[in-house]
Amino acid sequence: MKIHNFSAGPCILPQEVFEKSSQAVLNFNNDGLSILEISHRSKAFVDVMENARALALELLGLEGKGYKALFLQGGASTQFLMAAMNLMEKKAAYLNTGTWSDNAIKEAKIYGEVAEVASSKEANYNYIPKGYKVPKDCDYFHCTSNNTIFGTQIKDFPKLDMPMVCDMSSDIFSRSLDFSKFDLIYAGAQKNMGPAGTTLVVVKEEILGKVTRQIPSMMDYQTHISKGSMFNTPPVFAVYVTMLTLQWLKDLGGIAAIEKENEKKAQLIYSEIDLNPLFKGFAEKADRSIMNATFTLENDNLKDTFETMVKEANINGINGHRSVGGYRASMYNAMPLNSVGILVDVMSELERKA
Ligand SMILES: *Cc1c(COP(=O)(O)O)cnc(C)c1O
Repeated sequence: MKIHNFSAGPCILPQEVFEKSSQAVLNFNNDGLSILEISHRSKAFVDVMENARALALELLGLEGKGYKALFLQGGASTQFLMAAMNLMEKKAAYLNTGTWSDNAIKEAKIYGEVAEVASSKEANYNYIPKGYKVPKDCDYFHCTSNNTIFGTQIKDFPKLDMPMVCDMSSDIFSRSLDFSKFDLIYAGAQKNMGPAGTTLVVVKEEILGKVTRQIPSMMDYQTHISKGSMFNTPPVFAVYVTMLTLQWLKDLGGIAAIEKENEKKAQLIYSEIDLNPLFKGFAEKADRSIMNATFTLENDNLKDTFETMVKEANINGINGHRSVGGYRASMYNAMPLNSVGILVDVMSELERKA
């Protein structure tokens, strides 16, 4: 039975990645050993790590531009504090566009002063603030490119004379951007890249080593860079599955190719949300995410009918986050257009029935 999985994360991955990674659990590279039992220092695994790191930089167009890719643990939530610990001497600027930005701000305040340049909290984060000023005396600017919970996405990033740090957990590898504008990008793998358990960090080396505080080894990007992301035992399986997903994306034609698919999916669902009188979108139109579409029913009396129909269509994971309510369709890279079509059919069927 085919399930259409709209889960926000951990989320859908390509079927061929599930198949190859299952095979590797039983017999990796036909060596007779499982990927789960080989040494992380074995050539077979070192090749996986090197390949994953190289693919990440290649797909982002950042090869040979002074960046290093790392696969760390602790989730994007650990990056909230690691970014501040490694980069903040006194003060940093943060754009508050949702729960994850807010959490990043909370952690950064442990290490210095935070200038919150703008916030859309008063509107339950249904838009991206624009036209804000960033104080010049900040060590870096931090933003969240895609707000997974609220379904908003930054379309234009500011041009600033300071390092740009971006939490791209839920839209990395989904759309073309000039990634060289960013100095530190981080993303939990479980949204668009792999299973839970590893976090991609892409950092421009020249921004490191400038703070005076002592940084514990595990929290120091330079430790991990100097050891090729193998300072301690890396999350072997999560890195392997991520490597397979990045390879899948490269074979498809990379970010430019998947972006076209992602735009078709987003257009399909948003036009249904806009045309179907039973539904309304949550996020402001100009700021809508192409990854996570948030919407509600105009009339809650239809909730049970709609949810029964959703279930019968084998659609999984569209319940909205508790802070927004309603529904959220997460349409990450591995989601086929056809699955979005099934959801849209259910929405229009509801209109016919109601
Ligand atoms: C899910 C998410 C996080 C939290 O990631 P963890 O890996 O669970 O710590 C942070 N930022 C964004 C944008 C997210 O979507």
